[in-house]
Amino acid sequence: MLPRNSLYFLGTAGARHVVYSQLRRSGGLLWNLNGFYLWVDPGPGALVRALENTPSIAPAGVDALYLSHNHLDHTCDANVVIEAMTNGGDNKRGSLLAPADALGNEPAVSSYTRAFVNSVETLGVGKSFSLASNVSLHTPLAHHHGVETYGYRIHLPNIKVAHIVDTLWMDSLCDAYAGVDVLIINTTLLDARLNVLHLSIKDAERLIVTIRPRIAFLTHLGKKMLEADPMKLAKQLTEKTGVTTIAAQDGMLFDLSQI
Ligand SMILES: [Zn+2]
Repeated sequence: MLPRNSLYFLGTAGARHVVYSQLRRSGGLLWNLNGFYLWVDPGPGALVRALENTPSIAPAGVDALYLSHNHLDHTCDANVVIEAMTNGGDNKRGSLLAPADALGNEPAVSSYTRAFVNSVETLGVGKSFSLASNVSLHTPLAHHHGVETYGYRIHLPNIKVAHIVDTLWMDSLCDAYAGVDVLIINTTLLDARLNVLHLSIKDAERLIVTIRPRIAFLTHLGKKMLEADPMKLAKQLTEKTGVTTIAAQDGMLFDLSQI
């Protein structure tokens, strides 16, 4: 469904307003990692967007679901995606990776649906998971986002990628995600705002300047980011940092072998 070793932005919406108005889609990201399919953070409408997509995304071919944290714009469609991955539970397969508090008292995935996957992995600080041969996923640190939240690094033989999900700025992000070739940043805010636990465009710049990936993507875009023209902001970041920076759009495909 996707080229081998590629990244597909099924949705780029960030935070409540953009999600509930669907100014951008909220389907999350889909990775093809050496043939292993990983779906990250399926928000509202993710399943419908996947099925309607051209080319259509076949959930039955997805091998694992990753939930970064238990907020609805990241987990809303998790149950139905698992049902679609497993043919309504008739074909038990695949895995679910999620923080403990997304599986606890107010779970993002019901115990009924959880039984449909082969394994449920609990994310944690400094943990590593083998997704497939030569494909490993790492959760280096806990983010600062009000609920238990983890970004991730993925290591393939010739490429390392990272996705810095929702968080307030922390200096420790720079070390935790150092050395990657591709960096995805959930850049929800145009300007940092008191008590809003998200990264801003200024934070994205600091991350890009320090980590210096070969390419960076901005996604999970909030309303003010959209109003300010994310493509223009990404172009400015490219000029300032010397690192190619792209504002993700719904339906954008990136071939990892390009870098
Ligand atoms: Zn969140």
